[in-house]
Amino acid sequence: MFRVLISPDANAGVGACFTDRHGGVTPGDLGSLNLGRTDVDQVSHVEANFERVRRAIGGPTLVTLSQVHSSDVVVVDDSFLSGWGPRSHLGSPGAVAPLSSADAMVTTRADVALVIRVADCVPVLLADPTAGVLGALHAGREGYLGGVVTHTVEAMRDLGASDIVAWVGPHICGRCYEVDEAMADRVASSHPHVVVASRWGTRALDLGAGVEQELVDQGVTAVRLDPCTLTTPELHSHRRDGADAGRFAGIIWRVSGVASTGVPGAAGTV
Ligand SMILES: [Zn+2]
Repeated sequence: MFRVLISPDANAGVGACFTDRHGGVTPGDLGSLNLGRTDVDQVSHVEANFERVRRAIGGPTLVTLSQVHSSDVVVVDDSFLSGWGPRSHLGSPGAVAPLSSADAMVTTRADVALVIRVADCVPVLLADPTAGVLGALHAGREGYLGGVVTHTVEAMRDLGASDIVAWVGPHICGRCYEVDEAMADRVASSHPHVVVASRWGTRALDLGAGVEQELVDQGVTAVRLDPCTLTTPELHSHRRDGADAGRFAGIIWRVSGVASTGVPGAAGTV
């Protein structure tokens, strides 16, 4: 179920995880723990998969977005949650209210878990455990170029965060994320350090390196927990599996009342 699981008890009250393809109920090629793709999976399967993950991390309310490769950030506060129900995270057409279209969330609430869903894009989970501020973002190519990393850090600081740790989760690596010449040229014009050589000698993008650099530039401590999705069968990969790719999740939550004895960023295994 978990590729990475950081217990709140060992991390100053902040839990964080990245799920894998296993431990759910979805049959077939999607991988049993599909946490998205209600277009090609049954909503009941995705709901059951979410419920298994929710219970495994202690039962917080799961909050999701309709991710649209933007750089927009949503504040998950009392107002946001006033319209949130037990099945809202599913976001399936006709079943519940539409999800907010954005690619990052921040919150000071201790009873919610921020859920970002990916299959090659870069999931990043962030926290200032002392200030009690959490963030989660989805950095696809366009969101990264649009500044979603900096926007999320700024939104966390607006909520009182100062000493932020970020966990960069599994995504397609720079050796595998091949792009055409036109795209490489476009990215190179603004973010030249992200354009690298692929394993095939062609041009590629290393979004993980770009995200890490931007976090560091923002004064954030970055911890990379990021095996390549394309070459790791236990993880969902859009490039590898195409239309049959499910979605895994990066999830961050906070438990109130845990003594700050853990060392943020030190825990976790890959
Ligand atoms: Zn790779």
